[in-house]
Amino acid sequence: MKKWRKFAAVALTVVTAMSVFAGCGDAKTSSGTTAEAKITDSELTTDVKAIKDRGVLKVGVKNAVIGFGYQDALTGEYSGMEIELAKKIAEYIGVDVEFTAVTAATRTELLDSGDIDCVLATFTITDERKKSWDFTTPYFTDHVSVLVENSSNMKSLADMKGKTVGVSSGSTSARSLVQAMIDNKVITGEGFSKETFDAATWTDGVSFKQYDDYPTISTALSAGEVQAFCVDKSILAIYNTGSRSYISEEFAPQEYGIATKKGSTFSELTEKLVKEWLSDGTINGLITENKLN
Ligand code: GLU
Repeated sequence: MKKWRKFAAVALTVVTAMSVFAGCGDAKTSSGTTAEAKITDSELTTDVKAIKDRGVLKVGVKNAVIGFGYQDALTGEYSGMEIELAKKIAEYIGVDVEFTAVTAATRTELLDSGDIDCVLATFTITDERKKSWDFTTPYFTDHVSVLVENSSNMKSLADMKGKTVGVSSGSTSARSLVQAMIDNKVITGEGFSKETFDAATWTDGVSFKQYDDYPTISTALSAGEVQAFCVDKSILAIYNTGSRSYISEEFAPQEYGIATKKGSTFSELTEKLVKEWLSDGTINGLITENKLN
């Protein structure tokens, strides 16, 4: 177990307490950016100019995903590669950055309402989501897995048959698990369609309970309300305490992109910056610094 993962397990209680705070939806944390703006006049398009005039870039981030978006309970400081990426974008524009803790269930409404300018929150790019929001080229790829209590003796996708699984509402997790169980011939998956899949009504070989946040799923797993907890491995890490393990399979690559309002001219800038920082090694550097490889 990597050192930070051990720390993650110890931090579980703190995160649970923090999530109550984050759940209020107004947990905003600002951070000044000191460097000179690098933005050119031609990049100061309508939506970017609005951010510049406001003097602050408002970003939706996770607060309990170590290495991506994590908020220290004592200092309130955020850390992780998504935090650093957001700061770099703000720095490029020459504005401060303000973080709002989001969940899979809240991130899109906050973007739609204009409470935040962009989402950097382990947000997987999918074809359906691309119809509603703009996404950059992916800056990281994770996989989905399943966390279980050791006492359950569940070790693989085959053991998931007939079980109830905790997932977050607004996530891709349930659909990914069903697809993986079909691909691994654990279930036949008759009637499965990627487009119309609904975790709330799926009962063929596995069923789901949906929760608003991850600490609640973790508690439900301990209480036996669900027999498994399914989401991206990066998110599961903090809930992998000593008495729990992952099943052997990882599946469904999850490509994380920065999401912005559909058609916003800010989308063009985020795409330009991600592409540039992928090709010059900046993003790779953030991945390494945050121990994500
Ligand atoms: N990354 C997955 C998704 O976007 C899991 C949910 C989450 O990011 O919290 O659906």
